[in-house]
Amino acid sequence: MLKTPLRKVEKSLKMALYFISLNGLVYIIQTLFLYPVWLHRYFIELDVGLGLLTLLFWFICLMSSPGFIRKPKNIEFLEIMKLIDPVQLCPDCEIVRTPRSRHCGTCNQCVERFDHHCPWINNCIGINNHKYFMIFVGLLIANLFLNFILTALNLYLMIFHNDYELRFDYITFISKDIKDNKFVIWASSALVLIITFFFIFPVILLFTVHIKNFCQNRTTNERFGGKKYGKPPPAAEGSEQSSDYSATTSLLAEEIVKEIGEPIDHSDRRIPCLYNCADMWCSK
Ligand SMILES: [Zn+2]
Ligand SMILES: [Zn+2]
Repeated sequence: MLKTPLRKVEKSLKMALYFISLNGLVYIIQTLFLYPVWLHRYFIELDVGLGLLTLLFWFICLMSSPGFIRKPKNIEFLEIMKLIDPVQLCPDCEIVRTPRSRHCGTCNQCVERFDHHCPWINNCIGINNHKYFMIFVGLLIANLFLNFILTALNLYLMIFHNDYELRFDYITFISKDIKDNKFVIWASSALVLIITFFFIFPVILLFTVHIKNFCQNRTTNERFGGKKYGKPPPAAEGSEQSSDYSATTSLLAEEIVKEIGEPIDHSDRRIPCLYNCADMWCSK
């Protein structure tokens, strides 16, 4: 039986704003003090381009519907309760749960192929936005690596080879003495390295967990929540399991959701993980 949290967790933009502020801080420091001394213009363009692309996918994940299951329009919930085992129903959303859905206590809605609720994007990860989330995390890793490596390289050249100069002097409101000051560049680099370093490892861990999930056609909720797939919703005890039941359930399937069943077993195929990844990526 699926459990819903006892305590309702309020949806809050706090962590998403924290994430975006920290990223913004890194880019402000780089724009003001580090890009001007970077080795090549292409590095700056690559870093800014990657940063904007990451921001775009973060925004897509934040704004997209993860696959909230909508309440049926033409069937009363009381009518559904008479026919379907209450265990299979979500009283908050007034819907029949599908095998891979789960009610998110924070969003207070059932999500199809629920993975987890991500505070960094203030949204659930479900069947509709899981692939965008993967792209976002992949881009974030590339972004963090690029920032870390280029900042570290610059710092290394500055400390050990005294090789630094103001190559791109595009900031006009800061005096040249500050922009050219070794201590300012050193401190800015250290701050960027510390922030990116603390982000890299958790993000890589997150990405590997999701790659494994895709290869197994499992969600994080199914892997770590010990979810077992059940049988299709049975009729409530004592109710007449007749043509009424099948008529209503087929109507429900049409009305409530495009039914998402259990994952297809590809274990007999040559490279099952490829088929699993394709199922995870393409289903919606
Ligand atoms: Zn629900
Ligand atoms: Zn949620």
